[in-house]
Order: sequence, then structure tokens, then C-alpha cells
Amino acid sequence: MYGTHGESSSKKKNHHHYASDDVVNILATYCPANELAVDEEKLMLTSHLVHFFSSTPPGEDLASQVKDKNGAYYLSIDFQHFQNIRELEEFYATLEEKPKVALSCMGAAVHKVFLSKCEDNFLDDGLKINIRLHNYPESTIALKNLKAAYIDKLVSVRGSVVKVSNVRPLVVQMNFDCAKCKSSILRIFPDGKFSPPTVCSLNGCKSRTFNPIRSSARAIDFQKIRLQELLRSEDHEEGRVPRTVECELTEDLVDACIPGDVVTVTGIIKSINSYVDIGGGMIKGFL
Ligand SMILES: [Zn+2]
Repeated sequence: MYGTHGESSSKKKNHHHYASDDVVNILATYCPANELAVDEEKLMLTSHLVHFFSSTPPGEDLASQVKDKNGAYYLSIDFQHFQNIRELEEFYATLEEKPKVALSCMGAAVHKVFLSKCEDNFLDDGLKINIRLHNYPESTIALKNLKAAYIDKLVSVRGSVVKVSNVRPLVVQMNFDCAKCKSSILRIFPDGKFSPPTVCSLNGCKSRTFNPIRSSARAIDFQKIRLQELLRSEDHEEGRVPRTVECELTEDLVDACIPGDVVTVTGIIKSINSYVDIGGGMIKGFL
């Protein structure tokens, strides 16, 4: 099962049918055990999306648009166009309630379809396909309305970029060796938060001591930007301090903007007063 090293590489991929084992393995890399558990609901949604991306014309067309930017794979989806596709009601409902789950399942489904079309299986490298939604006006909110109720929800915010950090690496996965039985355990850190395994579950070992294998660390590009609301002239007259929000950009989104750009960022709210998470897309906007 998920969490044991090397499991996914031992599975043979099937080019013509999706084996459920295969989907489980791919989904597991999109749903780290310490954050999202792979369950029946996610598997069903993923299988449904695999069908959409592999067996319907609009889905096949979208799946063929996966792009590679310096080794970071992503699929940019125009939501306004996308939401007219009828067979995806289940996905839209999940996107509203649990966007992280919806985007993980979609990433896994696109990944599955993408793998079936290419020769090299890149899953073992821990690479993922990021789903980047844009043009989603229904999700747009003003920064002043950003409240706790939006935590973990998908929103779009528009503003001007006032600060861009340096790009730095964010370690997103690492292997740990159990100090007792020497088994290797893969851990995934979705937010780059270092979290070693707590207990070795292999063969009843139960050891609580692990050695991080630094050389196994996989890092992605990471950057923070600060977005400032666009003030109208009457706001200026009141002398109000403009509201800002910090956004975390990863992989393909890094270096997508510079200070002064006016952009719309679509992403998941992590916490109020600090971050808009990754998971959405970003487009440059116009005043
Ligand atoms: Zn052990």
C-alpha cells in the first residue's frame, strides 16, 4: 500500500484498460497519506475522470494539452469553457466543497491518461501533473471579503503584484530508513513541512526511530508573491491602507509575474491573513 517504498514501480502499466491498482497507485501520490487518504469516494471520482479524459472528445482534447515547463508538468484549464461539459457534475460539486480533493483526483486522472500515451513512466520520480484552473469568475472575491469561511476553498483574487520573493527549493518528499528493520519508507510533504514517519508499520516492527535519507529528497521550485487589491479613487481619498494577500507559487507558476503586473490568481485559501495556496492557475490580467 501507499507509504512503502518501490510499490508503484513494481506494477505494470496497462495501455488499454485502466487497472484499478494502477489508479490507486497514482492517486496515492496525489493524496499524501498524512493529508488526504485514498478512499472510495476519491477513487470513484478519479476513475470517472479517467474515463472523461480517455474516452470523450472534449476530455481527450484537454488531456493532450499537458505541458512541460522545465520538467514541471501542468494542464491549464479554462474553467468557463470547461464547466459547460455536462458529464462532470460530480467533479464540480467536489471542487466547490473540497477543491484540494477535486484537483488531486483530476491530476491523478490526467496523469493516468498521460502515462498510457507515453513510453517513459515518470511516476517513480514523484513527478505530478498540476491542474491550473483559470478564468473562473464565479470564484472571484474581493480581498476585503476574504474570511475564515473561505479556508480550504478555491477562490480567485485580482490585484497588482507588489512583491516577488526569490525562487527557492521546497522539499516535497524524502525517504526514511527505519533504524531497526532498515526498511525504506517514502514520505510526502505536500506543503514542504518536514514530517518523518511516526511508527514503522512494516512486519510489526513498531520502531519509532528513522534516519532521513537526504540524497532521496525531491524538491520543487517555490516562490511567494504579495498581491495588493486594486483601489478605486474614492478609496485613495479615504487614505485606506490597501489590503494584500500572500500567494505561494510552485513549479510552472514560479517566475510567471513581476512586480507591477496585474494578475488574477486562482488558488486554495490556506489561512486568513497569510496565504493563497497553490493549486490554481494564474493569468496576467489587464486594467
Ligand atoms: Zn521498521
